Amino acid sequence: MTGFFDSDPIRPVMTKKVPAYGAAAAKAPLLPMTIDRRGVGAHDIEVEILDCGICHSDMHKVNNDWGNTHFPIVPGHEIIGRVVARGDQASRFREGDLVGVGCIADSCRGCSECRAGREMFCEKGVTFSFDSLEQGGKTWTYGGYSTTYVIDEQYALNIPTGLDPAKAAPLLCGGITTYSPLRQFGCQPGTRLAVVGLGGLGHLAVKLGVSMGADVTVLSTSMGKEEDAARLGANHFIPTKEVGALDPHQGEFDLILDTVSGPHDVDKLTSLLHSFGTLVLVGLPPVATPLDVTGLVHGNKRVAGSNIGGIRETQEMLDYCGQKGIVAEVEVIAPAQINDAYRRMQRGDVHYRFVVDMSTLAQ
Ligand code: NAP
Ligand code: ZN
Ligand code: ZN
Repeated sequence: MTGFFDSDPIRPVMTKKVPAYGAAAAKAPLLPMTIDRRGVGAHDIEVEILDCGICHSDMHKVNNDWGNTHFPIVPGHEIIGRVVARGDQASRFREGDLVGVGCIADSCRGCSECRAGREMFCEKGVTFSFDSLEQGGKTWTYGGYSTTYVIDEQYALNIPTGLDPAKAAPLLCGGITTYSPLRQFGCQPGTRLAVVGLGGLGHLAVKLGVSMGADVTVLSTSMGKEEDAARLGANHFIPTKEVGALDPHQGEFDLILDTVSGPHDVDKLTSLLHSFGTLVLVGLPPVATPLDVTGLVHGNKRVAGSNIGGIRETQEMLDYCGQKGIVAEVEVIAPAQINDAYRRMQRGDVHYRFVVDMSTLAQ
């Protein structure tokens, strides 16, 4: 162990060198590297990472699609592992417990957003679990494509017993990002819900929407995903690449959840809304999306955005998935296959979340 003592009395105390997979520059391949993890502070737990999901946001960040990436970057924010150490004031978990680390690693805890459980909007600046400044603004966080993670126990999630760790990992971002808007916008029995894009987020949205009693339709550019959509519980499938495919479905949906990662025509989606219906955007394409306002006015239609969910709501979602037995459909890969997984995700060839088995990186 190498390290230093910092003037901050709580943390970091000492850093530890750990193996990771990361990118040195925009669009560079992810390669093995060594990173410094902060030492275990009084309120921290150290997590030995078992599995980490690959979210499309990881790839947007590596590609610097949003123009705000700090390199080198170690992505990964769908982390599941076991507690291996804890600070002397950390009492929520015990060594051996299965815990999750999602998108949020820390925040100020005192502002109105933090107190309301919306840490992602922390007025002092949230600390995301990767590519984000730690509270205090000195060092950058490295994500879960690694062997260990150190986090304040208040920001760690309890994983319900019975959920397979690799299949539960994608709930930490994909699950909360779809659960939160379905709850916010009143998904309930009878809701005519359309899920656009059957990828990591989309397939979880289908499962969650079905569990809430919605009549679920999948809109997909991939004809080959029709059988899977039915297996996931969707009632209908619309192949969006076919000319005129959307025409018979004008005004048909109460709620549309758009999980698409690339450029696409949002106006075509608002035309599918019933009056007073809502299109919720969660996908974050790298380019700006034009919007026809007239189409919204005629029909009192709404367009909304939704950004992950706070720690409290993430725990609520995990407990809900534990009760309902909802997990992701995953393809478990070794760290050396991450670049291939990124290439496949780029072309929509994802069935339906890649999860990296991080235990092999330690060997
Ligand atoms: P993903 O697994 O790659 O799935 C995206 C799906 O969108 C693809 O499988 C494909 O589905 C469809 N698609 C991709 N490009 C398209 C295009 N140009 N036109 C139409 N459809 C297209 O990605 P993900 O991990 O689910 O993430 C989806 C998006 O959500 C990303 O932009 C990500 O950054 C964002 N995200 C946002 C939040 C948030 O808090 N709001 C959180 C996590 C992720 P089909 O084959 O079915 O067409
Ligand atoms: Zn994500
Ligand atoms: Zn705050």
